[in-house]
Amino acid sequence: MGKYHYAPVHAFIKCEDCGWASGSYKNALAIAKIHAKRYGHRVSGDLGISFMYDYRDDGPSVNSKSLRT
Ligand SMILES: [Zn+2]
Repeated sequence: MGKYHYAPVHAFIKCEDCGWASGSYKNALAIAKIHAKRYGHRVSGDLGISFMYDYRDDGPSVNSKSLRT
């Protein structure tokens, strides 16, 4: 079975109205929304996500029928 990894690794959140900023990536969207809602501000940001698929141990996935023809 292949291994799979997917996780946010960095974020840059900034409020356009008051200059508030955060680098919290674990719940960046929730944090941004809470600030925007609470203060009536506009918050935007970038979220970086790390991901990986590891199928080294499995080898290539090939349809056995197509091998015979
Ligand atoms: Zn703000």
